[in-house]
Amino acid sequence: MAVPLIDLSEQHAALRGEFQAAFKRVLATSGFIGGPEVEGFEREFATYCEVEHAIGVANGTDALALALRALGIGAGDAVAVPTFTFAATAEAVCHVGARPCFVDIDPVTFTIDPTALRRVMAASGLPVKAVIPVHLYGQCADMDAIDAVAAENGLAVIEDAAQAHGARHRGRRAGGLGHAACFSFYPTKNLGALGDGGALTCRDAALAARLRELRDHGQREKYLHASVGFNSRLDALQAAALRIKLRHLDDGNQRRRAVARRYGEGLAGVPGITLPVTAAAREHVYHLYVIRSDARDDLRRHLQRQGIGNAIHYPVALHQQEAFRFAADGRLPVAEQAAREVLALPMYPEISHSAVDQVCEAVRAWARAAHGGQG
Ligand SMILES: *Cc1c(COP(=O)(O)O)cnc(C)c1O
Repeated sequence: MAVPLIDLSEQHAALRGEFQAAFKRVLATSGFIGGPEVEGFEREFATYCEVEHAIGVANGTDALALALRALGIGAGDAVAVPTFTFAATAEAVCHVGARPCFVDIDPVTFTIDPTALRRVMAASGLPVKAVIPVHLYGQCADMDAIDAVAAENGLAVIEDAAQAHGARHRGRRAGGLGHAACFSFYPTKNLGALGDGGALTCRDAALAARLRELRDHGQREKYLHASVGFNSRLDALQAAALRIKLRHLDDGNQRRRAVARRYGEGLAGVPGITLPVTAAAREHVYHLYVIRSDARDDLRRHLQRQGIGNAIHYPVALHQQEAFRFAADGRLPVAEQAAREVLALPMYPEISHSAVDQVCEAVRAWARAAHGGQG
């Protein structure tokens, strides 16, 4: 039996009746932009993230650009970002006219390395004004160490929490760990809409007001434009769907952790691979279950032959991408090695025990053939 990398059909089939009732409610009002569904979702998502404010926007990339703009970052500024992330993290920096400053990652958690960040701050000579730690694969970055470097250098801290809905660091939820946080509700994220969507969270009321203004053409009142803003709003239909799915997020994250535990048991001691590690004081939400191997491409071909879904997040670090070559400044070896070695295995809340066991057996069979070991 083939095992997909991700399959949302079971989750959505179970919620179909609730979705239909919610869409009927929105259709009855003909209010498709903003309105009570969006306001309701914003309240509920802020409560979920344990922060004062949530602001719905069109997608996660816009959330990042809006956070930068609202914090006054633009032309002439630089922003420190990990080089091992989805392109959107650095794209948003460019979209506000600033320059990304790529930083290497920690070899165990794959998140931005605070020591490398400190080195960059001391040596780059760039006017770095902010840092965007990415909570990659569902695990929070080392926020204590990042906060220390940020405080020493007067940096704004913007969380890229697009892969970390519900994750915790020292008991505090992603979304409340910096000056502002950015979420994506792309359908495959831990909290996914039925299309594009995004949100920002923050604790500061003035910042929240600025973000609300910026997402809606800079309007403070209808047709009174206080600033040059964007069209980046969350649709009412998406907000209605997200309110339903938010109620199942903790359950989904718990199931993801159970899947990760089963992988951990099924793959323990297999030679030639390294399993994901949860760092101290983190609660992982396993947006992705990522192993690494120096024979990654061989393992990948083996899994593909067995019909087992897999993916590489990400095959090329950003400083080596054509799009960002203008901002690259030398080698970032930890990220470059990660790009050669990472492999995501099937992960979603509804995956069956037998499917996980099948993936584990396929990896063990590969290791037996490749290493002649215990497997
Ligand atoms: C998905 C993602 C984004 C962008 O979100 P969109 O909603 O697709 O714009 C940004 N950063 C990271 C790390 C992501 O995984």
